[in-house]
Amino acid sequence: MTVTGARTFKNFIGGEWVDAASGETFESVSPADGETLGVFPKSGPEDVDRAAAVAKQAFEEWRLVPAPKRGEILFRFAQLLAEHKAELTDLMTHEMGKVKPEAGGDVQEAIDMSYYMAGEGRRLWGQTTPSELRDKFNMSVRMPIGVVGVITPWNFPIAIPSWKIAPALVCGNTIVFKPATDTPLLGERFVELLVEAGVPAGVVNVVHGGGAAVGDRLVRHPDVPVITLTGSRETGVQVMRNAADCLKHIHLELGGKNAIIVLDDADLDLAADGILWSAFGTSGQRCTAASRVIVQEGVYDALASHLVAAAEKLRLGVGWEDDTDVGPVINEGALEKIHSYTQIGIDEGAKLLTGGEVASGNGLDKGFYYRPTLFGDVDPQMRIAQEEIFGPTTALIRVEDFDEAVRVSNGIRYGLSSSIFTRDVNKAFRAMRDLVAGITYVNAGTIGAEVHLPFGGTKDTGNGHREAGQAALDVFTEWKSIYVDYSGKLQKAQIDTAS
Ligand code: NAD
Repeated sequence: MTVTGARTFKNFIGGEWVDAASGETFESVSPADGETLGVFPKSGPEDVDRAAAVAKQAFEEWRLVPAPKRGEILFRFAQLLAEHKAELTDLMTHEMGKVKPEAGGDVQEAIDMSYYMAGEGRRLWGQTTPSELRDKFNMSVRMPIGVVGVITPWNFPIAIPSWKIAPALVCGNTIVFKPATDTPLLGERFVELLVEAGVPAGVVNVVHGGGAAVGDRLVRHPDVPVITLTGSRETGVQVMRNAADCLKHIHLELGGKNAIIVLDDADLDLAADGILWSAFGTSGQRCTAASRVIVQEGVYDALASHLVAAAEKLRLGVGWEDDTDVGPVINEGALEKIHSYTQIGIDEGAKLLTGGEVASGNGLDKGFYYRPTLFGDVDPQMRIAQEEIFGPTTALIRVEDFDEAVRVSNGIRYGLSSSIFTRDVNKAFRAMRDLVAGITYVNAGTIGAEVHLPFGGTKDTGNGHREAGQAALDVFTEWKSIYVDYSGKLQKAQIDTAS
């Protein structure tokens, strides 16, 4: 691919590419090598107001477009994503930094989601039920809600927008989309392809800029009745609070502190592969990353030395090179935060087994690279075992038995993903029942969601909603119950009980 250089990009409002009202800009810079990839409008509240007004107007027509037709546009979008998969993958290795196979997976997830939601255009099922009265027909149908404010993080810059925008559109809503400021170019490409697929003017609008200026205005805007946010717990709390005055529908997908349990009877090679992939894939910057590994004492030492040896073999580098195992982290602030947790772990008395340093040399100084880091002898209450670090750092915790493993796994504020490696079917089923999380994997790591199952977490990972699958439709529709009386007389429910 050709990286676009410092090309200047715009917001997309009402079918037109426009600058921010302020004329201010910000740059997208590659975390891999510091290259400037583009210049973007640094928008403010007035740009959001403009986009919200256009989206509100467009809703009146878009909601009337038959859902199968809306689905056909998404089907075309999925095809376009597939046609552009190589280009988007390469761009992602530059703008977000993840390695090529993972970047390809990110794009594939958006392709899968768009095809899946295209099919929803011919379902969007409601219910029909019998009436308690004669000559009366009852049904419930899904209704679109209006303008959806879509606020996304940088770590899945194509997949996460698709999880939100595809279901919102097929349900008949219109969109104001604010991509993360670390990955605006991928957000821009996403919208360009939607436009090419045939989304009418005003139905999808993009406003670039920061959380405080653009995101917050969306959250407080009276004409944006739904906000869907994926981000940190702290941002989720602020968003919920700031949206309260408008009684908005708020859909939150927040942080995680996911654990893999390895029991004495596990296939250790398989478990080690699962741990490496879940802890260090995407440089640990996945909401489902395994940042805790809970190991039964009989296999603790063997697993720890296996993991140290394997982690030290991982090659750091730019994501677009085929032999890179681990790419950069997203920016300097993230690098500093991750490194500060290494010191916190050491101060707390955990044993640094490998890593724990900023990587340099061989061109790595141009970007933000951190050595895959393993801590041993971690107490479950230590901060490195409780707080989301969002980097390539994982904590090994030794336990005596299954019950303690489940207790430790559940002993955190988050509840996104969980995993157990065991060959005991009884323990596997008890784990499926007892792990308090939105996702449980058996004999696989904590990552690898498929788009037709609900995705999301319990406790502080969210507020009870789910993305993906049929569950996503509940975020973007409201139920209407409809009663049709064809008796020709006034029949009173609960009163005319004799009929
Ligand atoms: P972040 O919370 O810093 O930002 C997320 C988005 O919210 C960005 O677009 C940001 O500009 C915006 N934002 C920030 N403050 C805002 C405000 N006051 N009002 C409105 N918008 C605001 O998160 P991040 O660093 O981009 O992403 C990493 C976090 O996302 C991690 O905590 C990770 O676990 C989480 N995440 C969760 C899931 C999930 O599905 N549960 C998936 C991916 C990432």
